[in-house]
Amino acid sequence: MRPARKTLRRPDEFIAAGLIPGERRGEIEAVAARYALALTADVAELIDPGDPRDPIARQFVPAAAELDARPEEMADPIGDGAHSPVEGIVHRYPDRVLLKPVHVCAAYCRFCFRREVVGHGRALSRRALDAALGYIRAHGAIWEVILSGGDPLVLAPRRLADIVEALTAIDHVKVIRVHTRVPVAAPARVTPALVRALKVRGKATYVVLHANHARELTTAARAACARLVDAGIPMLSQSVLLRGVNDDAATLEALLRLLVECRIKPYYLHHADLAPGTAHWRTSIAQGQALLRALHGRLSGLCQPSYVLDIPGGHGKSPIGPSYLSRVGGSNGTACYEVEDFNGRRHSYPPAS
Ligand code: SF4
Repeated sequence: MRPARKTLRRPDEFIAAGLIPGERRGEIEAVAARYALALTADVAELIDPGDPRDPIARQFVPAAAELDARPEEMADPIGDGAHSPVEGIVHRYPDRVLLKPVHVCAAYCRFCFRREVVGHGRALSRRALDAALGYIRAHGAIWEVILSGGDPLVLAPRRLADIVEALTAIDHVKVIRVHTRVPVAAPARVTPALVRALKVRGKATYVVLHANHARELTTAARAACARLVDAGIPMLSQSVLLRGVNDDAATLEALLRLLVECRIKPYYLHHADLAPGTAHWRTSIAQGQALLRALHGRLSGLCQPSYVLDIPGGHGKSPIGPSYLSRVGGSNGTACYEVEDFNGRRHSYPPAS
């Protein structure tokens, strides 16, 4: 039976939609008691319920493996809490902050790095939002504000416009970046009013789309992204490297090419974070580097994301992709280099004269 055009939120709705067998009700209720569930009709319609390896189901349909927390996993794997001077703000780097106006998403990714906090409560209170904006106003080094969450594009356009206008009025904020999965999970929410809310004079606004598989970029999702790009809003992408979803070169290649065809520049490929109950999605870093190496020879530079790890504990992101450069001894004792080309052949590069 195909899902109705409504968001599935309860285990019995997933069962009725044919996405989970009835005999797994108990285990899925245990998952639902711990983590938020939501699957929009747009995403549910992408799932082939007859395919146990469906990469969309693997990202969005709850599974008992989520209850298998490992000792190395953490409730706050990227250390947001350690860098939150006021509610709704994460200030990890000197020149930028995260502003999290809402902890709600249109659909909940089962591997979410903020799974312990998303889905609880609706939005920052007026008072907390004012305090967060006051913090940004008071810190002149903040050049970029990243709207994150949750998903800021679940906010009503009027409320989003209020936040963007408040940021626009702060002289030292030059860039507003919005991280979202809405164009994939609920493309109809990208209305002209929402696009107008994001498009402001005097600031650069970027939208970063979270997408992990080419099948997520449906006709409707591509049209939603086109509405943003056509309005002059540049788009970037971030993807999470996920076992059983996109951990092979052909799948990543298809995703990255399609993003660029949609005028979305691949930005980050995240190594999956140590969120609780997510071990079954994590690859090794060596696998990730091997995939990046394979893509280096296959894809235009426009399609290449940076493979990054958010260092557990809140120490920020670092690129962890393969290195193509090694230092070797020069004939006169000075260092020179060897550089690997896209075919794996090595070439020497002379020392500085
Ligand atoms: S869209 Fe982002 S914040 Fe929301 S569930 Fe997915 S990973 Fe988590």
